[in-house]
Amino acid sequence: MDVEIIQAIYQHKCVGIKTLTKQLDCSGQQIKDRLDGINSKLNEFAMEIKLVDEMLVMVNSSGDETLFSTLSNNELVYLRSILTEIINNDYFYGGIDALNIANPMNKTQMVQLLNRLIKTHWLTEIGNGYGIGIRSLLELSSLLHSISDHQLYVSHYNSVIVTKGYACPHCRTAMTVKQSENFAQMSKNCPNSKCKKLWKPIQIGQF
Ligand SMILES: [Zn+2]
Repeated sequence: MDVEIIQAIYQHKCVGIKTLTKQLDCSGQQIKDRLDGINSKLNEFAMEIKLVDEMLVMVNSSGDETLFSTLSNNELVYLRSILTEIINNDYFYGGIDALNIANPMNKTQMVQLLNRLIKTHWLTEIGNGYGIGIRSLLELSSLLHSISDHQLYVSHYNSVIVTKGYACPHCRTAMTVKQSENFAQMSKNCPNSKCKKLWKPIQIGQF
């Protein structure tokens, strides 16, 4: 079963746990229960499967090696530029603006690259523009922190940067929209034990 899970996630790189339960004919809990064991095997290959917002993501734990081997220098510079724009423009950058980022590629090459970055989950499509993809959030988090002009919110539950969610105005404790749905059923107060003020959060990102 572990092998099937690894193969299925490897094939998609990023897959919803519901999709996987259908594909493998097992429950979400069965998959979750096996993650620690699976990760101890993947550890040898510097790979790790992370569960974020009911999505399973295959992460290269040795850093952004895969990115460097699949993108040219110009493409990497472009990715860094667009991530910088997204993170400093309320986690969204328009499609037309993205094509006007100064770089040596022509428009066709940029469109092809953008599509590839979406397919591989480095970027995500939001309306007619772009947001930060789940793999960038997981594998490029130190880069994201360093290119941001403001202090980023990280999830109370898994320390992943929150680009769409809610935060406590008193203590900056944050969570994604999905995490907040679970949380709202359990508590009316901030989950930070040092704060515990009534949960009246501010919004993070595009709604
Ligand atoms: Zn708080």
